[in-house]
Formats: sequence, structure tokens, C-alpha cells
Amino acid sequence: MTTATSPTSELEHQDPEQFAVEDEWGPAVSHHKAPFEVGDVFFYAVLISLFFGSLHLYGERFWAYVLATYPKPVIILGGTFIVSEVGFWFWVSLLAVLDLYQFPKSFWRYKIQPLKVPTWDWYTKALWVVLQNQFLVGVPTGLLLYKLMEWRGNPIGMELPTVMDLAKESIGFLIIEELGFYYGHRLLHHPRLYKRIHKQHHLYTAPIGIAAIYCHPIEHFICNLSPLLLGPVVMNSHILTLWLWITIGQTNAINSHCGFHLPLFPSPLAHDYHHEVFNKNFGPIGILDWLHGTSGSREMTLEKKKLREATQAKIKAKNEQVKQE
Ligand SMILES: [Zn+2]
Ligand SMILES: [Zn+2]
Repeated sequence: MTTATSPTSELEHQDPEQFAVEDEWGPAVSHHKAPFEVGDVFFYAVLISLFFGSLHLYGERFWAYVLATYPKPVIILGGTFIVSEVGFWFWVSLLAVLDLYQFPKSFWRYKIQPLKVPTWDWYTKALWVVLQNQFLVGVPTGLLLYKLMEWRGNPIGMELPTVMDLAKESIGFLIIEELGFYYGHRLLHHPRLYKRIHKQHHLYTAPIGIAAIYCHPIEHFICNLSPLLLGPVVMNSHILTLWLWITIGQTNAINSHCGFHLPLFPSPLAHDYHHEVFNKNFGPIGILDWLHGTSGSREMTLEKKKLREATQAKIKAKNEQVKQE
């Protein structure tokens, strides 16, 4: 078992069986899995309000202009690509400033694993793989998505999506995301697949935002893209709803890997803990983890550790008592 009590920027693969359970965790923040924290509700409420607010104000004019100016493939393929790229690099650049220049310094009090300090190396290592995944996996998947959405109906209808549409469709999105990501991810933790595919993503035991899609191309397709994009296909969503859902899903993935539990942001603790210990919190929401008994938190692990130590001490004391008798 490795122990780290001073800051480190080491980036090397750890054996899933050898994870460290420290008593010194840095700042006292709650690490319990709470699927619906204040930050979750606040963050998504703001994002969804901004979306529907601007749709209400400018939506009709904007959409009429887009439909009149661009051909269908450009709207679906080009629009989806732009939304994905802008959303990804917006958050990742802000987090890079926070990680590498420690700006704003006050946010560092929210660092989840404060003893592991990200460096430029962590970023440059991820960059090439991330670009490969975005272009070599993301673009062909976009083409497939285009075909599937066209087959399901007309994703660029004149009528704009409403909050009620989103409320109904998001039930399907969330179910497909939870099922697809949880079981896909668990499958990738099978020893054979882990070594060949998923080990790459687990290089970062204290993840950073850009590492959200630092992974094998097969993993990117199975775990990241398919569960996210299949929902809007199945629910026959409007392309604008798909763009909102991609923004939510991508922001959530980056936030889950960002390494900071910032106020009013969704809690990244569950997935951060997965990177640290490998065998807990496989799912994005937590329902299947709860069902399969794979939920975990530092408190639960430390609790187990204390319980084990207490039991061992009791056995030892009993053995010594027997010896004396
Ligand atoms: Zn991850
Ligand atoms: Zn994993």
C-alpha cells in the first residue's frame, strides 16, 4: 500500500488492488455519495433556464435563420460538432488555469485530493489522446448519429422544444445514460478488458477536467458517446434538445473529473473516488451502484477500516487471554 503525505505530481499507473486509504484527507469535505445535492439542482436549473430563456427571447428568429441558411447535414453535423467542442474546451481551459496557475487561489480549498498537484505534463499527456477521441471517434459517431436521428424522424423541425418536452425526454436520457455507462464501465473493469482498454483512463488517480475523455477509443465510444447520444435518438428529440443534453452530459463528465468540489457545482466526489480506489461508484447517477452494492465514499472506507482494526484488536486480545489461561 502506498502512502502519500506530501504533495506529489507523479503520474503513473497503480494496481487496482493497491490503493491508499489515508487518514489525512486534506480539507474536511463530505465524501458521501449524494445524487441530488444542492449543486446538482442549482447548476442544472441555471443551465436549463439559460437555454429556455434564450430560446424564448431569440429562438424563433435564430432557428428560422439557421434553417433558411444552412443545409440539413451542416446543421446536424456542424452544429453538434461546434456545441461539443465549445462546451468541452470552455470548461477545460478554465480548469487548466485553476490547476496550473492556481488561480483563483481561494478555490484550492475545494481540491478533493490536495496532495496530488496537476502539472503541464498531466495536460500535454492527455491532449493528444483527447484530440484523437474527438476527431477520430467523435466525428464518425456524429455521422452515425445523423443517420439514426434522420431515420427516427425530423430532428430539425420548425417547432422549438419546450420545457415539457425536455422533462419527458430527459427521463429516457437519464435511464439510458445510467444503464449504458454503469454496465459499460463495469464491463471495462473485467480484468481482461481493464488491462487492454480501461487502464488508460485510470492513469489519473486524482483526475483533472481534460481527463474526462482521456481513454481508449473503444471506451470513448461505448461508455462516453453511446449512452449520451442514444437517449435523444430513442426519444426522437429535437436537435436543440440534443445540443442541450450534450452540454449537460459533457459538463457533468468534466466536472466529475475536475478534482474540485466547488460550491454550487454538482458533486464530483463519487467519480473522483472511483479514480482513487477503482472499485466503487461505476455509474453516473448512483442508482445502479446502490442496487449492486458498489457505492463508496472515503467515510465508508475509513469506517470499514476502523471496524476491521477493531475486530482484529478484539481477536488478538481474545487469543492472548486464551494463551494466558
Ligand atoms: Zn473517469
Ligand atoms: Zn473505471
